[in-house]
Parts: sequence; C-alpha cells; structure tokens
Amino acid sequence: MTRPTRAERLALPLGVTAIRDLTQAAGGCIRPIQVRRTNTATGEVDYQFLPCRSTLEAACPPCAERARNLRAEQCRTGWHLDTEPDLTPADPDESQEFWLTARAAAQTQRDKAAANGQDTAELDQLLAELDHELTASGVRGNLSARTSGNDSKTGKRRSRSTRRRQDAPGLPKRPLSDRTTGQVYTAPDGKTYRPSMFLTLTLDSYGKVTEDGTPADPGSYDYQRAARDAIHFPALFDRLIQNLRRYLGYDVQYFAAIEPQRRLAPHAHIAFRGAISRADLRQVIAATYHQVWWPSTETVRYSDDELPGWHEASGNYIDPITGEVLLSWDQALDSIGSADPPRHVARFGPKFDAQGVLAGSKDAGRCVRYLTKYLTKQIADCHEAGTDPQRAHAYLLTEALRYEPCSPRCANWLRYGIQPKGARPGLIPGLCKGKAHRYENLGYAGRRVLVSRKWSGKTLTDHRADRKAWLMAMLDLPATDPDTNGYRWERVAPADQDHMPLTQRLMHILADRTAWKATLAEARRRVEDLNQNPSTPDRSAA
Ligand SMILES: [Zn+2]
Ligand SMILES: [Zn+2]
Repeated sequence: MTRPTRAERLALPLGVTAIRDLTQAAGGCIRPIQVRRTNTATGEVDYQFLPCRSTLEAACPPCAERARNLRAEQCRTGWHLDTEPDLTPADPDESQEFWLTARAAAQTQRDKAAANGQDTAELDQLLAELDHELTASGVRGNLSARTSGNDSKTGKRRSRSTRRRQDAPGLPKRPLSDRTTGQVYTAPDGKTYRPSMFLTLTLDSYGKVTEDGTPADPGSYDYQRAARDAIHFPALFDRLIQNLRRYLGYDVQYFAAIEPQRRLAPHAHIAFRGAISRADLRQVIAATYHQVWWPSTETVRYSDDELPGWHEASGNYIDPITGEVLLSWDQALDSIGSADPPRHVARFGPKFDAQGVLAGSKDAGRCVRYLTKYLTKQIADCHEAGTDPQRAHAYLLTEALRYEPCSPRCANWLRYGIQPKGARPGLIPGLCKGKAHRYENLGYAGRRVLVSRKWSGKTLTDHRADRKAWLMAMLDLPATDPDTNGYRWERVAPADQDHMPLTQRLMHILADRTAWKATLAEARRRVEDLNQNPSTPDRSAA
C-alpha cells in the first residue's frame, strides 16, 4: 500500500469540516451528545446521540433554528386563544418522579446543614443542578424560589419602610378577574372578532442618536443611565405587567422578546392576548417606573490599586490601611435615609408602537416572525458594529457597565466601600462575573423570551412533545418509545474510553437524519397516494 503524498492529503476535503457541513445541511445537530444506554437486564450497551439543543446560531445552527421554531409555535398558540388554557398539572412521569425524589432528598440535606451552621454552597449548587434536570424533564415552576427564599445566615427578612414601596403609581385600580382571554367584538354583519395586540416598547432617550445608532454627541450621551436602565430592565418590565393587570382588571397574558435597538438599549416586542387601547397603554406606560433602593455609588472609596482585603477570621472585607471592617450590605441599606432619593429610577420612553392584530391574519404571521427573529443571536450580535463610531459606542457602554453594580451580590460594591450581600473571598471590582457586565449582553442579564404562565398553557417541553407526537402519527409509529424502561442512561464523558470523537458522532447523526428523511418522504408519498386513490383498503399495506 502506498502512502498518499502530502499534496494528495491536502487535496482531500477536511474530514470534520466536510461532515459537519453535510450534517448541518441535513438539519442535524453539529455538537451531538453521546449517551451510553445499558440494558439493565442483559448488560448490553449501545449508544444514542442527543442534540445539543443550543439556542444560539453561533453554537449550532440546526438546533437554534429548531428552538426558534418552537418559540414561534408557542407564540402562535397562545396569542389568540379563545378559551382559558388548561393548567391542571399532569401526574409526574417516571423520570420526573426520579428527579423530584432526588430533589427532595437534597433539600433535606441542605436544610440540615444550614441548621447546623455548615457551609451550604455545594449543596445549593446541587439543588440548582437538580432544578435544571427537573425543568429539562418538563416539571414546571421554580422549586428553589419557594424553598430557599430567606437569607439562611440571619434567618430574618428585611422589612422596608412603606415609603419605599413602589407599587402604587397614579393609576385607578379595577377589580381583578381571572379571565386571561381578550374581549370579543361583533360586527354589524354578525361576524365576531377577537383582536390582540402587538406592542414595541423602548427606554427613554440618553441623548440624540444618528441614523447608525451612535450618539450625535458622545460627550453628552448619558451612558450611566443607559447602563442602569439596561440592568434594571427586567424589573421594569415586571412592573409594567403588574400595572397593566391592575388597570385593565384581567389577567393579561404576554409573549415578549427582548432585543437591543441600534443604539444598543434593550427594547421589548410584546404580543398581548386581547386588545388594549392606545390610550390605556399610554397611561399605564407613563405611570410605570421602577425605583432602585440601593446604596449610593457617588464616591469611589477604593480604586483598583488599593482594594479592600478579605479578613478570614471574621469573614469580612476590611480597609487595606486602617483594617476597619467595611459596611455590610444590610448596614449599607439601613443607612439610606428617609429623605434620600432612590439610587435609580427606570422608566420607559414616551414613544411606543402598538397595533391590533387579528387571529390568523397575515399581520399575525409577520409579527410572530418578527418576535422570534433575533432569538438565535446574542444581544450584542443583533447589530454588527461595522464602523468606528459604532465600535466606540459599544465600547463606551461596556465601560459604563464595568463598575456599575449589577445586583446586591456584585463585587463592584467593594469599590464604593460596601461589602456585597453574601460577601466571600476573591471578589474584585471590575471583574464581577454577573451576566450584565459581559460584552455580549450589553447590561441586560434577563431572559430573551418572557412568556406569562397562562399564555399557551404549555411549556416548551410540551410543545416539543406535541411536535414529536405529530411526526410519529405521520409515520404510523407508536407515539411513545417502548424502549425507555429497563435501561440505564449515562452521558459519555470525554475522558471515558468509549467516548467517540466528533467526526464519528456526526456520522451517526448524519446517517440518522438521512434515514429519517427517507422515512418521512415515504410517509408523504403514502398520504398523497391515499388522497389520489381513496379506495385503497389498507394504507399500511402500501
Ligand atoms: Zn445542536
Ligand atoms: Zn456585577
């Protein structure tokens, strides 16, 4: 056997690249996860390949596209719903039961450790991972929110003065009904309409911007307010929904996508179920604000060359020169005087865009596409910075976010002489790991899609199951896989001996996709034959 020459080898298509392109073109995941399946009765082992399920196009285009389609499906399903969604939870299935039992055991362990004054960090991590598994298996709701709400160290909840409560904007309050569906209108010809709403909502101005989204005068553009508004955007959005429900008197449902505008401030596209008048919207938007009662960051107490040090014995941060203990988070909150203004007030801008949309109309389809258009991209990748001013604008915003505290636990508080909530060693101002500071998020650390609980009455997992059931019916296959019992499933780690390299995993995916497509094409042909030749007695015989 002669060895191929170097030139011959270079002329061959690059193995991984070529097979990845083919897999992607066939709609298969390009980062498949290898799973070892062991038959618990016989000990026989085989391998399954699961899609990575990334929502980002930069990571896996086919998975991101599937995720986007699923969101679009969810959006369409809930928008013009005319009956209340059924929210009766189904009984947990076997795998859900397994994770729930594990979750309960871990919670008991954690609470015991906390009661004995032990460190619970590791167990909290475990709880978070189990919650993740539970969500992935289709269990709804956030278990941790209900089980670890209080500060475990002190066991007491902070009470705020009533003056600082901000749930009373100048809006009339109407009696609240449980209804989540919109009103029906009857035309003179007797036809009924149930219009819904599409709203685009932006933040206030931080200074005039030009066509390309960059400030006309960068020197006077208010980057600090832009940074703070972006950080507190999720809270402001929540406030808007609460106010709308109070004002309209019914349980308004929404599907919202959060994206950056050209000027890099977050804005929201929101589909509301039911029509809401522009006048009502204007009034509620104008009355909605979110006050941030955090300590002041006016004065920089410790800049980067003289940072507070961690005092191991007392578990506090101390002044590097005097050794004085810094204010704790609670002390800092308590020292906000009753005459002090809030540290920040976030509001929406006065301009908004609202249109009524009818069920099943062309507009409805267009809006759904619009709502899901950017979901497969990171916030910062939605608008590419192509010019120097655009790059400079993005840079200045990131700089403004660098030392801006993103949460009570943010390391940046040390810069202002305050120990962050839950202080621990190793915190360095300017290097907080919070999502808001990362360039790709531009200050917005919340979720990209916000869906109210009673939107479609279904989770993404439910929508995925619906799609699978439809495919199985189309293929005349049993809806549930009879092979799921009696197996042990484990993810194969890269260090394991039987771990397959990417090329090999991709070949499995490609082969599966090809076979699957052929089966689907065959099924389509069968349906077409049946339609043309309805007298065929037994369609499975075809
Ligand atoms: Zn994938
Ligand atoms: Zn932070």
